[in-house]
Amino acid sequence: MTKTDMDSFGRKIDYLRISITDRCNERCLYCMPEGYHGWEVKPDHLSADEIVRIVRVAAGLGFRKFRLTGGEPLVRPDVVAMARAMAAVPGVEVIGLSTNGTRLAELAQPLREAGVRTVNVSLDALDPDLYRRITHGDVASVLAGIRAAVAAGFERVKLNCVLMRGVNESELWPLTLFAAEHGLPLRMIELMPLTRTDVLTEENFLGAGEAMALMARHDELIPQPDRKLGHGPAKYYLLKNTGALVGFIGALTNLHFCEACNKLRLTADGKIRPCLGNHGEIDLRATLRQSGDDTALRALFAEALRSKPLEHQFRDQYVPGRPMTAIGG
Ligand code: SAM
Repeated sequence: MTKTDMDSFGRKIDYLRISITDRCNERCLYCMPEGYHGWEVKPDHLSADEIVRIVRVAAGLGFRKFRLTGGEPLVRPDVVAMARAMAAVPGVEVIGLSTNGTRLAELAQPLREAGVRTVNVSLDALDPDLYRRITHGDVASVLAGIRAAVAAGFERVKLNCVLMRGVNESELWPLTLFAAEHGLPLRMIELMPLTRTDVLTEENFLGAGEAMALMARHDELIPQPDRKLGHGPAKYYLLKNTGALVGFIGALTNLHFCEACNKLRLTADGKIRPCLGNHGEIDLRATLRQSGDDTALRALFAEALRSKPLEHQFRDQYVPGRPMTAIGG
């Protein structure tokens, strides 16, 4: 019998990241190109029922971890109901959420009650002006959202910061202190060439190694090789004096980055994307809408696993295609 959750390289793939919308109420420099209007083609996007059906099929194939992402998942009005329906699907063990945090103050509690277990909040700067420059948003709403998430009792709340040379290096240490003060793990993520925007240049790229060196000016980094917080690829360090737990996601500089990849992505318009850094996508939507029988959907998942590449192509002069906001972070 063939394993339904193994790819061609023997990696167990049991994690599906679901972009439930490509809309966002922020405009991060590195994510959404100016003038992007993908969402105007509304019927292209999957309904909540369609997404839950895909979750049921995936869970039947051995997928256990699911993440709601986008765009900004919390701008979708049916997000709480969707999370609740997903949590009720047999086999679903963990539902996580990636959010910019701006709507968490009102939604953290209902999402927790609906069955969302973990939350990742993007936070690239604490300084309100710089935060606004990077995201076009208001950092006060994010900080209120983080407080609400902590109060709602999620099993884990993590902070995500994208590294940008010349943009937010000066914020890395304040963010670390903030993370330590609130007892939240902070992950520093290398910029990936996911869309065509001004910030995605070699000059703006700040590697994880350099970010670690910046941290080491302030505190001693103690490697935590056995620390796994969730299902992601971060390598964690404990900062000796501050007590901060900082993870580094070196998508570009860590040559072993893809070895432990465990995920597929589902885009808001119903395509399975086996690899973030490879343009290949498999359309589920047409099949989903043609038939109520899930056999063909299972076959498409199998095809996605077979076509999942060994590695991303970000180091091979990758030319971005669909922007991150459309693929799903
Ligand atoms: N709106 C939500 C948020 O802000 O977290 C979820 C979607 S967002 C696309 C998910 C994650 O992708 C965020 O942590 C964001 O910082 C990250 N991201 C977006 N574009 C990126 C890029 N070009 N390189 C690295 N990370 C990126």
